[in-house]
Amino acid sequence: MPIQVYADQPIVIVIDPGHGGENLGAEYDGYTEKDMTLIVAKAMKEELEKYNNVIVYLTHETDQDMSIKDRAAFAGERNADFLFCLHFNSSVEHNLFGAEVWVPASGEYYAKGYSFAQIQMREFTDFGLYSRGIKTRLNDKDENYYGILRYCTGEGVPAALIEHCHLDQEKDKKFYQQGEEQLIAFGRMDATAAAKYFGLKSDILGVDYRDFPVPQTEIPEGIVRPDKTEPELCRIEVTQVNEDTGEVTVQMEAEDADSYILYYRCSLDGGDTYLLPEEWPRPDAWNESAPSCSFTIKVPFDEKIALLASASNGFDKWTDSNIIELDAIPDPQRLKEEAFQRAQQEAEEEAQKLLEQMQNYNQIHFDEEAPNKGAEDADSNLIQVTVIIGGLILCMIFISFFMARAIFLLVKGNKKR
Ligand SMILES: [Zn+2]
Repeated sequence: MPIQVYADQPIVIVIDPGHGGENLGAEYDGYTEKDMTLIVAKAMKEELEKYNNVIVYLTHETDQDMSIKDRAAFAGERNADFLFCLHFNSSVEHNLFGAEVWVPASGEYYAKGYSFAQIQMREFTDFGLYSRGIKTRLNDKDENYYGILRYCTGEGVPAALIEHCHLDQEKDKKFYQQGEEQLIAFGRMDATAAAKYFGLKSDILGVDYRDFPVPQTEIPEGIVRPDKTEPELCRIEVTQVNEDTGEVTVQMEAEDADSYILYYRCSLDGGDTYLLPEEWPRPDAWNESAPSCSFTIKVPFDEKIALLASASNGFDKWTDSNIIELDAIPDPQRLKEEAFQRAQQEAEEEAQKLLEQMQNYNQIHFDEEAPNKGAEDADSNLIQVTVIIGGLILCMIFISFFMARAIFLLVKGNKKR
């Protein structure tokens, strides 16, 4: 890729803030895509203009809609060296997260897009974002699905569509929820990626990317097709069940020969409902995935579980695993309470029995006629002492139990807090 030939003439960069005007883009929980992309685009332009020898345009500087064709034509008319189309993502179930870059599917446009996207993706992953990958997408005529990539290719302008992250998912929220400053950080990140790709130097920023090692991408012979099939392998095995905590450790294997595994998610009801997707371990952030993954999930006590896990590839195609039936794990707290109640009940029954025995004794010995007055006095004194001591013991048993119960409830209450 002869980037250096541009060294003497200024690099022309067009930034296209996705959506605008009536065209809001994704919307969720107070976040509107068109507002976010405009802030990022302006920050990207401002940052790029700190570099030497570069001319930067926005397809639109204000909140207005523009046809996709006009955006590409804008770049074509200015002989742009690249168009960066900025977006934020969302998903139907509001459960996906991470950043992705879409590139044209063929020829030098693919190669340039893919080389740039690798730099951009490194910026994203260094920043802490999860990489959903660098991908192509086609319509049913085998053309680029995204109009901006299709029209830019038609205009002879290399382009990439950047989905910064998902504006509708908790895991990505930390990257934009503090407002404008965070969006400006995205813009600076995009500018840095572009500056590295074009080997720019900035006297203002004191950085020099002229020797930056741009990853080289071979020009593909045909169309680089997206993966349209689900992962072919997805299997789980339970390796450990912790009866005290309800934690189940699962060993999962998943494989997709055409692309890579991106997320896994669990179901406790055999696939009727799923928990939120989680990151699948990927040694290389965008086009490889580990063959297996071990994770621990907490299952509810006292319920039978039909455990299933599902793996998706980079194109959001999911495959379900085998189902593992788990017997209900008894709730340890409930077992403790039941044991305590049983012990309490037994003690009360014992005390009741003792009381009855003493009453019987009293009836026998006080009701019968006494043959000897002196002996009767001694006997009755002894019996009275026994009754008092017996009564005291009974009181102590009851007090002990009420105190034990009070302490138990107190400890239980503290644990809950
Ligand atoms: Zn968008």
